Amino acid sequence: MTDSDLPMDSSIKFVVPIKTVERPLKLSEFAKMELKSIGMMDDKGKIKLKGVSPKMLKRMKLESVDCPVLANEIAFIQCYVCKNFYSRITGKVNCKGEPLSVNT
Ligand code: SF4
Repeated sequence: MTDSDLPMDSSIKFVVPIKTVERPLKLSEFAKMELKSIGMMDDKGKIKLKGVSPKMLKRMKLESVDCPVLANEIAFIQCYVCKNFYSRITGKVNCKGEPLSVNT
C-alpha cells in the first residue's frame, strides 16, 4: 500500500474502487433531481458536468461503484453527486460513509 491509497481525511470511512461496466447503469430519480438542481443535467436528461470534457463524461458513464452504504452497484455519476462523495483518487472514491436514505 502506498500513501496515495490511504484516506486523507478522518471523515473518510470507505475507499471504494471504481469499476468499468459495458453498459451505463441507470441513475436513480434522486440522482437525476440532484444533477438538475445543481445545473448538471438539462430538462432532456442530458448530463453536463462542469470541468468534465465530453470524452471524460462518456468514460464516467461506463463506470460504477459497489456502494458500501447503499449495498448496491450504482453508476459512478450518481456516486459523484452523492453527499458522501469526498474525492476521486487513482480510480477510487473516498467516501464519507454516512447513512443515506433509500431513495438516494
Ligand atoms: S459516495 Fe455515496 S454513492 Fe459513492 S460510495 Fe459513498 S455512499 Fe456510495
